[in-house]
Amino acid sequence: EEQAQQLEGQRDDLERVNAAVELKARELEQASQYKSDFLANMSHELRTPLNSSLILAKLLADNPNDNLTAEQVKFAQTIQSSGNDLLNLINDILDLSKIEAGHVEVVPEEMRVERLANTLRNLFQPIAQEKSLEFAIEIDPDAPAFIVTDPKRIEQVLKNLLSNAFKFTEKGKVSLAIRPLGDGQVTFSVSDTGIGIAEEHQRSVFEAFQQADGTISRKFGGTGLGLSISRELVRLLAGTIHLQSQQGAGSTFSVTLPEEYDPMRVLSRRAPES
Ligand code: ADP
Repeated sequence: EEQAQQLEGQRDDLERVNAAVELKARELEQASQYKSDFLANMSHELRTPLNSSLILAKLLADNPNDNLTAEQVKFAQTIQSSGNDLLNLINDILDLSKIEAGHVEVVPEEMRVERLANTLRNLFQPIAQEKSLEFAIEIDPDAPAFIVTDPKRIEQVLKNLLSNAFKFTEKGKVSLAIRPLGDGQVTFSVSDTGIGIAEEHQRSVFEAFQQADGTISRKFGGTGLGLSISRELVRLLAGTIHLQSQQGAGSTFSVTLPEEYDPMRVLSRRAPES
């Protein structure tokens, strides 16, 4: 009898603890949702006035009536480029908060790998030319011709990685290699012969607002959000992203995706990557 009562008491205690934990979890989830919603709304509200300022700054910078001095045109150009930096930052914050709030939907479709390669070639060849860098896209003959994924998202990720590769490389080569990994997976590797990332920064570059080196990033600009966004998008595509780099020698970012997107394989946020 006494033992039964004791057990009963323990069960009540456990239930109370359980209820408290559940309540706390719900509160935390809600707080996180408020934060993401706030960021999304705020970013949206900031964009509208900024866009009109940018249009006007462009009008001034173009100086169609030739009635501004050279110095005034320069000021207008500075307003334009600072405004564009701010717009990029706002867009990145908006992107990341949308992902965090679970507002980014994956729309899988059959995508021709060659087509993605062509889009990226057209986008980045001019940048390669401008910086006198070699740019190669290598598609392994055994790579699948089609994969099922969200083409817009994988394109966004690879654009991010290639932009970084060109940004941090002054001589040599940037390449994109597309290879089958077996096991129904395909890898997109973006390699460069640029400044590389020191071992101790290799983890943190994927965190929001982190840049490998303050002095370098000031020189190169950027928001420090591109890789966090890329990592989150890759996760949503049920893939993984890895970095191999050697300071002074270059970096390779590899994105591995399933050949066929499967929503069941999307890991939740912050889960350790395999
Ligand atoms: P951003 O490029 O806007 O600063 P990212 O999140 O894309 O933000 O990158 C974070 C940091 O990682 C960069 O500031 C840079 O220090 C480092 N990084 C990213 N890609 C490369 C690369 N290909 N080579 C060297 N450093 C890189």
